[in-house]
Amino acid sequence: MPKKAIIYDLDNTIYPVSDIGEKLFGPLFDLITESGAHEHHMESIKKATMRTPFRVVAQRHNFSDELTQKGINLQEELEYTEPIASFEDYPEIKNIPGLRFLVTTGFFKMQHSKIKQLGITSDFDEIHIVNPVVTSKKEVFADILKRHNLTPKEVLVVGDDPESEIAAAKALGITTVLYDKNDNFSKEEADFKISHFKDLKRIYQNT
Ligand SMILES: [Mg+2]
Repeated sequence: MPKKAIIYDLDNTIYPVSDIGEKLFGPLFDLITESGAHEHHMESIKKATMRTPFRVVAQRHNFSDELTQKGINLQEELEYTEPIASFEDYPEIKNIPGLRFLVTTGFFKMQHSKIKQLGITSDFDEIHIVNPVVTSKKEVFADILKRHNLTPKEVLVVGDDPESEIAAAKALGITTVLYDKNDNFSKEEADFKISHFKDLKRIYQNT
């Protein structure tokens, strides 16, 4: 069935978080270091923070309730104020016809500032910043399909995280494309696996 729309993830799909992570999360890493309880694990905490929602990182690393809450409060105010470069293959997505949606989970101000600094706002028909306390990617995907009269088979979901947007898309029967630049995952994780956006148009047109 010909596709009509693509839903994209933001972090590690449009740009690499590692490029801005030390600066963006600097105040958070300082807070965690200053708590004194995690100094031996800072490198793994930093890596996880750039790949995984903060609540999950906090749980896995046994942060105290107080440190978790302080970390959340801090990140609610964090913004990135410098230009951000997208992945070099990002412009390829503009050669693909149809509707484009950007759906990202995270702190509103932070996600909004990143989208602004990437300069990608006008590339998308709709942009959604999902607050996981209020809703989920799955609900937002379902709402997009409903409002635009799209069936699951007319849509691709593209993202880097099998446990996030890929899982949400699978639950709705939407075709999934894992964007796996560093070959972290097996090809069984999604319907398709790509490492460059030049390969996306063919999937869009031929599946
Ligand atoms: Mg991501």
